[in-house]
Amino acid sequence: MYYNENTIVYHNGEFVKAKDIQISPYNQSLHYGNGVFEGIRSYDTDCGAKIFKAEAHYKRLKHGAKVMSIPFNYSEKELIAISYKLLELNNLKDAYIRPLITMGEDMSLKSNTQSLFTMQCWEWGQYMGDQLLRVKTSKFQRPNPKSCFVEAKVTGHYTNSVLSTNEVKSLGYDEALLLDMNGYVAECSGANVFMEKDNKLYTPPKGNIMPGITRSTIIEMCKEENISVEEKLFTLEEFKEADSAFFTGTAAEVIGLKSIDEYVFPKDWKPSIGFQLMRLYKEEVLGKRHKKILAVK
Ligand code: PMP
Repeated sequence: MYYNENTIVYHNGEFVKAKDIQISPYNQSLHYGNGVFEGIRSYDTDCGAKIFKAEAHYKRLKHGAKVMSIPFNYSEKELIAISYKLLELNNLKDAYIRPLITMGEDMSLKSNTQSLFTMQCWEWGQYMGDQLLRVKTSKFQRPNPKSCFVEAKVTGHYTNSVLSTNEVKSLGYDEALLLDMNGYVAECSGANVFMEKDNKLYTPPKGNIMPGITRSTIIEMCKEENISVEEKLFTLEEFKEADSAFFTGTAAEVIGLKSIDEYVFPKDWKPSIGFQLMRLYKEEVLGKRHKKILAVK
């Protein structure tokens, strides 16, 4: 699904075939989860392949490497150039791009002084599909910001996402909603959350969540489109009084929620603010959005 015998990846300074890559079993990040990665999308626009918010993604990657003490010297500009070259070599325009930094061979717990850098890309539809999601609150909380850098996309943090996804999928739900360590609504396992109440949007503030690039794009777009949005903590009980809700993320894009646990969001998706933002986001990533004032019903 992700590659075939002709697929090219970037690996430590060279473009090579994916099938020829070898990762050592002594790779420190394989054992301890101290790698960092990004999830980026490129779109097939009227001006060719366009990577959405490439600089913001590479800033986050570099920040992650820094806080995890992983040596990484590429500039944002170099990373963007590698990304476009990789797309070209794989003949892809609409694609998901996955840069990954891992450590060298080391079985100690101190960050190794060597790092490995790979970048892959593949065609990937909307990660959570395009149907409204039936979501369940997970028994797992998001990681406590006092135990790790929650704003960094660290590979090891994703055990929390895997646990919560496995939990709710095994119960027949589509996705997991996770609370933070204080019991407030935090985010989905791989996306941020917004709720609509009385024609206004609310989303949890930064601090206990992954500060998503899609989330900030949506907030910016709301400001430009005169949609009222507030970053504010809210409880699960408050979430279950919302009119409508949606998730945002690079892989998921903008996707509406049908229900949370037993609660079905009462507002239809089409008249919701989320639906309008979903359409505007599609235009935005394709460079086709004409800023306008939305008539919110
Ligand atoms: N929360 C989590 C836990 C994530 O893994 C992601 C995906 N990076 C997001 C939110 C959304 O972030 P972004 O919009 O930058 O993709």
